[in-house]
Amino acid sequence: MTQTNFIGIGEIEAARERIAATIRLTPVNVSDTLSTIAGVPVHLKLEHLQHTGSFKLRGAANAVSLLSDEERAAGVVGVSTGNHGRALAHAAKASGVRCVICMSRLVPQVKVDGIRALGADVRIVGRSQDEAQAEVDRLVAEGMTMIPPFDHPSVIAGQGTLGLEIVEQIPDVDTVVVPLSGGGLIAGVAAACKARNKDIRIVGITMERGAAMIASLKAGAPIEVEEQPTLADSLGGGIGLSNRYTFAMTRDLVDETWLINEAQIAAGMRHAYWQERQIVEGAGAVGIAAVLAQTFKPQGPVALILSGGNVDMKQHFRVIGGEDVDLMKELA
Ligand SMILES: *Cc1c(COP(=O)(O)O)cnc(C)c1O
Repeated sequence: MTQTNFIGIGEIEAARERIAATIRLTPVNVSDTLSTIAGVPVHLKLEHLQHTGSFKLRGAANAVSLLSDEERAAGVVGVSTGNHGRALAHAAKASGVRCVICMSRLVPQVKVDGIRALGADVRIVGRSQDEAQAEVDRLVAEGMTMIPPFDHPSVIAGQGTLGLEIVEQIPDVDTVVVPLSGGGLIAGVAAACKARNKDIRIVGITMERGAAMIASLKAGAPIEVEEQPTLADSLGGGIGLSNRYTFAMTRDLVDETWLINEAQIAAGMRHAYWQERQIVEGAGAVGIAAVLAQTFKPQGPVALILSGGNVDMKQHFRVIGGEDVDLMKELA
């Protein structure tokens, strides 16, 4: 195994200092029911309780605080309508930096309103993500800084602070289970945990529908996969064909990756609600889903990252009510 040294523990520790005033140190709960199923203690890292409802604030806050004076004056821009967009808007506002989020006309009004309420300037352009990206490119040419959702050293270092908290809150942790999409979260968490204890096992979980990182790892290089509607919508999207950091870090630092299906994700959300009393979005419930489905074999104390809670409450209500919600059929 070739060791990747892109983002190290020094950068992650520095990030923790920088973002300490902006983020919440989120609590950890032991799950009795999941511990019984797994046969080892299962700890839940309640990161869905983070400000803005996801861990994305860690990376965004670190990236914003590393801007030069000139960059701060010109402001930041992003395209995400989801958790990264919310996080970037919040982080920029917290440090008095202008933030523009570009989105296409197809984005639902509730998402537009949500980002606006966080103080960002929302620019609605065109009818596709590509047209929104063209507007971002124009703003970057004018001097604004684009903060990407995962493949950026400051973002990865920020997400890594979650790994530091986990090893401190659960000193005997053996396995850390991480929701996986673009790989910013797992890259940072793996770098932090393995620097503290090289024997900690890092397990990545993603959904069958559009698992870009797992397909890329199999292919040996970043590849594109078709995007499909899923309950774990925050795990959608590719890893970028010109990926610079997260592909190599995931390849070199992650011990196992597993796929789970829609019914399993729904079961994870249901369990989070009825057994743990937590409202968790699909992407945040994949670790619980993997324990329930006995997807991986735990060998010692496990930490599951509940990565986000931004779920449409009507959809959540249907899922926890036991309805078989298949978004593929609904959007067809
Ligand atoms: C972004 C996100 C992920 C995946 O993070 P990556 O860094 O893209 O792998 C997981 N869960 C939630 C809730 C997210 O918003």
